[in-house]
Amino acid sequence: MADLLCKIHGTEQDKINCTFYHKVGVCRHGDTCTKRHIIPSYSRTLFIPGMYQNPRATVDINKIDRKLKKNFKYLDGFYVDIFLELCKYGEIEEMMVTDNLTSHLLGHVFVRYFSEEEAENALMKLKGRYYNGVLLKPEYSPVTDFRDARCRQNDTDANGCQRGDFCNFLHIRDPSRNILRQLFKKQHKIYSQKEKEKEREREEDYHHKRSRSGRHHHHSRHSHSHSNSRHSHHSHNSHHSHHHQRDSQEKREQKDNTLNENENENENEEKKSNENSQNN
Ligand SMILES: [Zn+2]
Ligand SMILES: [Zn+2]
Repeated sequence: MADLLCKIHGTEQDKINCTFYHKVGVCRHGDTCTKRHIIPSYSRTLFIPGMYQNPRATVDINKIDRKLKKNFKYLDGFYVDIFLELCKYGEIEEMMVTDNLTSHLLGHVFVRYFSEEEAENALMKLKGRYYNGVLLKPEYSPVTDFRDARCRQNDTDANGCQRGDFCNFLHIRDPSRNILRQLFKKQHKIYSQKEKEKEREREEDYHHKRSRSGRHHHHSRHSHSHSNSRHSHHSHNSHHSHHHQRDSQEKREQKDNTLNENENENENEEKKSNENSQNN
């Protein structure tokens, strides 16, 4: 029975939990939905509502065609800015900004980190802060796989989504391959640097403990830097976390590969979404 409940949780057979909230991350009924929207108590994905102020929502709809190019640049600029901020709190696996104009999907940011701890750290750091005058209210999202959340028609159909800007699935306009590649490269640099620092700290910590346990050795709190590269012992703990790091490193490398594979696809997408929005 418990198994069955697990399987139908958030699916169409689920009479209690809202399918849309669990699949897409946002449901158009919001608080008035007759089904439950259960915010998970932990997740790798953060949902930051309304962080992106979509200029298309405020400009005259007739002028959109002319302003389109400028708006795309605006979204790219926002994406870069936010990515570089959010990657300080944890390593980002994927980040998306909604480009729908319907009010319940307007200007949301979804960011999926590699671990729940990183997402938690980001949540704590972002809560109560302002971005461009918008109070940030990040929350955990039940969505960890966005394939069903993104509007398939918008992503794959050359003519774009028939429902246009008011579709209930996520219309994501990803930044160019080039921008993404640069951002992930920058992030990679930060985290490979951080790994080295952590490694050094672990070694220092290990030697610090060892020298403290020696009865006649006086150890000043600030003098542990001299023990840096003298030994290459590792405590049991550091072996353990090495293992985890290797696992997540592999995952990250795989992700890098998939990014590259999609390269051409995304350039097409960009062309297509250009055409698409011009049609609207
Ligand atoms: Zn709902
Ligand atoms: Zn759509």
